[in-house]
Amino acid sequence: MQSRRPTRQVVLGDERVGFVRIGGGKPTSRHPDATLESAPEHGGPAPVSVQTMTAGYTHDVDACVAEINRMAAAGADIVRVAVPERKDTEALKHILPQVSVPIVADVHFHFKRALEAVEAGVHKIRLNPGNITEREQVNEVIDACKAVGIPIRVGVNEGSIIERKDKQRRMVELGKFFADRGMGKRGHLMSIIIAKLEEYLDIFYERDFHDVTISAKSMDAAFVTTVYREISDRFDHPLHLGVTHAGPKETGTIRSIAALSGLLTQGIGDTLRISYANDPVYEVEDGLELLYSLGLRERKGADLIACPTCGRIQVDLFTLVQDVRQKLRSEVRVPMKVAVMGCVVNGPGEAEGADVAVFAGNKRGIIYVQGERVANIPEDEILDRLLKECLTFQERVEKGEAKLGEKVVDIVPPDPIGELGSGVEKIAAGDVERIGRPTNLTVGETR
Ligand code: SF4
Repeated sequence: MQSRRPTRQVVLGDERVGFVRIGGGKPTSRHPDATLESAPEHGGPAPVSVQTMTAGYTHDVDACVAEINRMAAAGADIVRVAVPERKDTEALKHILPQVSVPIVADVHFHFKRALEAVEAGVHKIRLNPGNITEREQVNEVIDACKAVGIPIRVGVNEGSIIERKDKQRRMVELGKFFADRGMGKRGHLMSIIIAKLEEYLDIFYERDFHDVTISAKSMDAAFVTTVYREISDRFDHPLHLGVTHAGPKETGTIRSIAALSGLLTQGIGDTLRISYANDPVYEVEDGLELLYSLGLRERKGADLIACPTCGRIQVDLFTLVQDVRQKLRSEVRVPMKVAVMGCVVNGPGEAEGADVAVFAGNKRGIIYVQGERVANIPEDEILDRLLKECLTFQERVEKGEAKLGEKVVDIVPPDPIGELGSGVEKIAAGDVERIGRPTNLTVGETR
């Protein structure tokens, strides 16, 4: 993993919702709020933040507030809302006092929506250079944001940028540069994006405005990787990563992770949104899990590991894992590692390092807490007992009586002859009662 690339830093938020810093390592942007100095680790590279966007109408105030609060509860650092109409920016005045995360107004086509959103007290504006192009209009938005000290995201999307015929010379120059790097047709698109960003950012620089983040999303994961690398080399603003129109969660996950994990491991990216055609809470959960998995954020809540199951399984593990996940999500605050393993053959080795673990056997499960065996119980009691052990362990951690990741004793696997009714000898002899692995499940389904 490369260290994070230094960028300017932008800060959004206020005293009530708190401040979220994006990027860092280069001179910090101007912010008129004196209380900003009290923001933690001010000036250094900030942890990569996770964003999402509401799916409902912003002018439906109660529903919008409920949606934002659900996202915040899932761990969203920043939430974006669409403001296509005057009634949406009007609604912002009522929404902002009722939420606990910084809000970004997503503005397309009508620069006046940006001015209204700033007046309503929004924490950041997103502009699309593809559809708000008039210099005077952009200047008005910049001046309004500068006056109240809020940043602007310049979001170039593959789907909405247009080739400017008046920038032919620069386009030819960039086109040759990318063609020489073997980018073919994609080089042409890259030329348009870079030329558009250069042209648009010049408007900001002319007004001495640098509180800018940049995004350049595409639905093509490989192109996203290339374009963000190029932008990172050319601009020192924090980058908002994302694969746009990634599709349903099932394929969108793969597309997003394919692009974003590569960039993040190269130190590129300061905030991100994973986009799905699904409940935005999944975007938050998966964005956080990506950052936890790469070691870029400190985990909040339990880290659940589970075996994929195989022909040795003798309990309904898929259902158990989903039930355990739901319970841990709502009841466990500390980042304990919890393992749910299908059998004793590989379970102890695979669960190495787990704070709380269960190894299933023939309709039974043995539970361990930091290597120490605490219960041998029937299948239908596993969920409740496992959760009870997790909560007791959490309490001990919070009281300082136990330490996360510490092994009290080495795990002693259950008796292989048959303590769980399915020891290796029985398995070897084929003398086990299996529940059979489900063969008729569709993706995402459990029995
Ligand atoms: S823990 Fe047991 S059931 Fe699960 S995958 Fe490994 S061998 Fe199979």
